[in-house]
Amino acid sequence: MSQPKSMDAIMALCKRRGFIYQASEIYGGINGFWDYGPLGAQLKKNLREAWWQDMIMNPAWGRKGPNGERVRCVPLETCIIQHPKVWEASGHVGGFNDPMVDCKESKGRYRYDHVMVFVPESGDPGDKPVFAYVGDQPSEAKQRKKAEKTFGAVRSVALSSLPQPWTRVIGPDAEKPGTLTEPRMFNLMFDTIPGAIRDEANKAYLRPETAQGIFVQFKNVVDTTRVKIPFGIGNTGRSFRNEVTPRNFTFRSREFEQAELEFFCHPSESQDWYRFWRDFRMEWWRSIGLAGENLILREHDKDELSHYSQGTSDVEYRFPFTAPGFGELEGIAHRGCYDLTQHQEHSKVKLDYFDTTRGETLPNGGKKGERYIPHCIEPAAGLDRGALALICEAYTRDESRPSPEILRFHPRVAPIKAAVFPLVDKDGMPEVAERLADELFRRFGRDGFIETDAKQSIGKRYARMDEAGCPFCFTIDGDTLKDQTVTARDRDTGQQQRIALDKVAGFLAERLA
Ligand code: ATP
Repeated sequence: MSQPKSMDAIMALCKRRGFIYQASEIYGGINGFWDYGPLGAQLKKNLREAWWQDMIMNPAWGRKGPNGERVRCVPLETCIIQHPKVWEASGHVGGFNDPMVDCKESKGRYRYDHVMVFVPESGDPGDKPVFAYVGDQPSEAKQRKKAEKTFGAVRSVALSSLPQPWTRVIGPDAEKPGTLTEPRMFNLMFDTIPGAIRDEANKAYLRPETAQGIFVQFKNVVDTTRVKIPFGIGNTGRSFRNEVTPRNFTFRSREFEQAELEFFCHPSESQDWYRFWRDFRMEWWRSIGLAGENLILREHDKDELSHYSQGTSDVEYRFPFTAPGFGELEGIAHRGCYDLTQHQEHSKVKLDYFDTTRGETLPNGGKKGERYIPHCIEPAAGLDRGALALICEAYTRDESRPSPEILRFHPRVAPIKAAVFPLVDKDGMPEVAERLADELFRRFGRDGFIETDAKQSIGKRYARMDEAGCPFCFTIDGDTLKDQTVTARDRDTGQQQRIALDKVAGFLAERLA
């Protein structure tokens, strides 16, 4: 296994090159909110568009689904604020809770299922205190030290495995034992009051996921378009969760973007579709640059599944801050008919589907039809975690280079597609460079920046592009004026080759696909 990369170095590069900034930074920032700078905004747009293209417009790259037909999907764009009853039906208002423990001494609040405790490796702690911590937080190393001083060798157990009250447990950021409260529920929904009357009765919520917008418009999509089951509806956009401890850069934020597909199918075909989407989603993340041992597909154990789910897998990435463990990028869940049934019950509107391709065969050869509530497979991805994984995976240090930091983005998601440099800022070279940059801009400027730069040494200019993840640089030099060739430089290998000036656009087109 390779060494974990330094998250501090990655965050510094993100700031320095304009990928990610703290939201409201000039006012000291606001915890759990991040803005994307010019390169980050374009990176995220490329990720979103790759998702849109490969999940909605040309789903699963034009492959046939388990039914032997082309996969069909349509897009939808729904509001952040919905009728509050949507969230009652979905179970979010009642049940979207994480049990939390508070520390009376440090005033810290921790997710109950994240708190671990160092206890002696063997035997009982007796009267001695045991040390609680949260994995990948500073408390882990600090508490381990104290625990080893007290017990020698230690092992970790979940806080939940210790009997309550936890009178001998020292909280992750506390000094005295017995200050952790029993676990309490904490609702993650942000609320707001639309309209002029600031009255509790008018309370609404910022959506905690984009998926419910799809279920509540399912009937409209079926009634107003020509979709037939099996088909999917995709929705992307901002979601909000009042995470108690936002952390790990953008990984756990309070405002984030999701890209979710709900794929509706007949119950008898749902397991096949579940496997289809699970496998495709893994392949997809690989295709945009998360290849290798840092990406895994983890099938949930039976006891991890929600009560309605008949299968869930997570695509997980080994982030520097989770290593050697993994963090979720996307969940692919078989949700059965849970959501449509819930909305049908709460709204009193029928959300079943009449399938004219099923049921008994009629004397005329047609089918009698079957009415049912479709089953749903949900690949639910996070674009911020996706963008962060792309950055972490791309980040490479190569000490042999003049500037050792390189972002090896897959060309499809790279925010800068190409750079064109005149070797020197005179002798007709800038004009040729401008013309080439214009041509590349017309062809590729929709998908990313085409940079030009005539200042500094050529080595420094290459290094700046390596750091920003630009896959190819083209340099116009003295020979260009004589033989109409340019130097094409590859970011990953640093190698250069001469190619004809009029072949540059074709060269790039082949490699950006
Ligand atoms: P976790 O267990 O990490 O809180 P989750 O299982 O609650 O995540 P889902 O409800 O399945 O997440 O949401 C789908 C995707 O949305 C996640 O895979 C993740 O990429 C993204 N996501 C969820 N919560 C956040 C968050 N607080 N910040 C950034 N992305 C998030």
